Amino acid sequence: MTRSHSTPSVGIIGAGMSGMLMAIKLLQQGKRNFTIFERAKKVGGVWRENRYPGVACDVASFSYCYEFEPNTEWSRRFSGGAEIQAYFEGIAKKYQLDDYTQFETTVTAARFTDERWQIETSSGEQHNFDVLVDATGPLNEKFYPDIPGLENFQGTTLHTADWDDDYDLNGKRVGIIGSGSSGVQATWPIAQQATQLDVFIRTPQWVMPTPNTEYGPLAKQLKRKVPLLGWLTRKFYDWVGEQFGRAALADGWRRKLVAWACEHNLKQVKDAELREKLRPQEQAMCKRMIVSDSYYKALQQDNVSVERSAITQIEADGVRTADGELHPLDLLVLATGFRPNVWGVKDITGVDGAKLEDIWQDEGSRNYQSIAVPGLSNFFMLIGPNSPITNLSLIDIADIGVDYVLQCLDKIEAGEIKTMTPKKSAAEKFGSDLAGSFDDTIWVSGCSSWYFDGSTLPQTWPWAPSYYREKLKTPTLTDFHITS
Ligand code: NAP
Repeated sequence: MTRSHSTPSVGIIGAGMSGMLMAIKLLQQGKRNFTIFERAKKVGGVWRENRYPGVACDVASFSYCYEFEPNTEWSRRFSGGAEIQAYFEGIAKKYQLDDYTQFETTVTAARFTDERWQIETSSGEQHNFDVLVDATGPLNEKFYPDIPGLENFQGTTLHTADWDDDYDLNGKRVGIIGSGSSGVQATWPIAQQATQLDVFIRTPQWVMPTPNTEYGPLAKQLKRKVPLLGWLTRKFYDWVGEQFGRAALADGWRRKLVAWACEHNLKQVKDAELREKLRPQEQAMCKRMIVSDSYYKALQQDNVSVERSAITQIEADGVRTADGELHPLDLLVLATGFRPNVWGVKDITGVDGAKLEDIWQDEGSRNYQSIAVPGLSNFFMLIGPNSPITNLSLIDIADIGVDYVLQCLDKIEAGEIKTMTPKKSAAEKFGSDLAGSFDDTIWVSGCSSWYFDGSTLPQTWPWAPSYYREKLKTPTLTDFHITS
């Protein structure tokens, strides 16, 4: 027999895309018993933090928005970061999320005691919740490279995820370290303003040529008048995204097409010596796929030079490379990425004193289907480790995770369960299924990338995105220790 309970209280950590989605879907169900904790002054997450020149999303904008909040006003196929941030701020306003959010409040510790989460915040407060949702995302701690002398540089140093909006690039000598998505996106706009740009590339990556079509007034008006068009555009880009995702999973025509397109793109580089400097040794998509129609153009400009000689140290005036050359700089841009899987709350303790950091030491049973962690009760992660970050839009991943959490909340509210904790055996089963499924994927074809995060296997999803939907469609309660 089931008891009827009051709506369980939910603590949501992070007011980025996924935390906002969790909150909005709770509101859509008439559930207001939640609080969002956000360390910054506003919503937006990565789009609030990443404001470097050229920042954009490499998922088509029509796919990178909430399905229930389509936007007919996107200016481009891949809209810029400021536009995406404006979209999320608009959504937060529409759903009045500020009323539920404690801004400038970091959750410093979370402990599961007496069948509830007790959290402590940077403002010294304590709060209790039935359920905790970690929506802080896998890439929220900047990675500063361990290059000797970095602290001695007398010019300006800016990490791409900590940009100074007032910095004037005009007339400056700029150096950029890092040729992942951030570095590639930043290269073109910096090259248009700086007097000189030195691009330091340790490992060249393949670049997929993808035109960034502009949507004019007519296209926008059409989509406003005929919402079906926007929906169809979304479905089309979802389908395109899925093809990329599948190319990463197994060899076949998709992978060959991507390799051909990247090779063809590299041929844009007219100078044979420069072209060979830029030729990757790894397969396309082994690291995160890079999408750009401007990178190679920028690298061929007269004011841009590509440096493949390793950086030996950073000095007061600039960067010294292994060939002995000093590259004098006014600005050093660190496009060196993030420390993956450093989630927002450092100190999380579950039942029996189990600490998240200790649980994650055990590679074989780190997490349960990307959404929960053995030993942590009533705890859910959105876009958690091993979710399909490389083969599905993060919006879709968050959406699937949120729907899963909502079902768990329904069961708690109905009194069917009070606490649910993934069984270690279920996490181990997930871990061993993962371990046996990476062989054909591109990520293990011989490259280093942040996907590995120090593990022997990448923390990605080695199966089709549709299988993620299937796996998380409904919670399998037999995989959990349940109290009721
Ligand atoms: P990243 O992909 O991790 O790239 C870091 C770059 O820094 C690499 O080229 C790396 O070289 C280089 N690097 C690191 N330490 C170095 C050192 N000591 N000396 C020389 N080079 C060094 O970082 P990211 O470009 O910021 O992208 C991170 C992730 O953020 C992406 O994979 C993506 O998931 C996300 N992102 C998404 C978008 C989007 O459009 N949706 C845009 C930006 C970022 P090695 O390759 O040799 O290690």
